[in-house]
Amino acid sequence: MSMKEVLKLVGLGALAVTLGVECLDWLARRLWPGRGSHGPLNEVLFFPSPPACVEHLFTPARTLPCSCSLPHGVETSFGKMLGHVLSAKVSLDLCVFSFSHVELCRAVLLLHSRGIAVRVLTDADYMLITGSQIGALRRAGICVRHDVSNAVHMHHKFALVDRRKLITGSLNWTLTAVQSNKENVMVTEEPDLVPPYQKEFESLWEASDPGKRHPHSFSQSDFSGHAA
Ligand SMILES: [Zn+2]
Repeated sequence: MSMKEVLKLVGLGALAVTLGVECLDWLARRLWPGRGSHGPLNEVLFFPSPPACVEHLFTPARTLPCSCSLPHGVETSFGKMLGHVLSAKVSLDLCVFSFSHVELCRAVLLLHSRGIAVRVLTDADYMLITGSQIGALRRAGICVRHDVSNAVHMHHKFALVDRRKLITGSLNWTLTAVQSNKENVMVTEEPDLVPPYQKEFESLWEASDPGKRHPHSFSQSDFSGHAA
């Protein structure tokens, strides 16, 4: 075999390997949409997030331009986070200390109306503060539970989308946190990180089951909406 033929074979071999890797990458992205070409989804978001219109995330099929006064076509941390919440197809498990953000409430109500299984775990004290959206969630028939202890807070801020995507960080689901505070949120589909959070959610959910509570430990907050 001449040197020219050897070089030709080596070139063809390299081309075949490159095409094979590309095909495997394409296949992986089709099978696991959350995975980028470098592994599972991992995204870090920092707040405050500037005010911007998010209507397109709620009504993607809308053809008329939105007429609200907020800036349009701006990609913000909040828009990205909201997009991840709205990406739920099967379930949303939310564990959040304070929940008063109206757009996030709208997103959770929308998921519930689509038949997505929504569970919300929150803090017994903060669910009663002015502006809390917990009552609206309960009135819509969403399963809400709160912690039992009055001595400590249910201080988590994480959400699990379809038991596969974790949204976690310092951010409470409030307008102040989104638009004013310095906060961080991590969105990940890392297989080593998501299951422990799901396990913790299930554990807290069971521990907050009002059916398993002593009758005298019920608080007024249990009757402020549809108890779950
Ligand atoms: Zn708008």
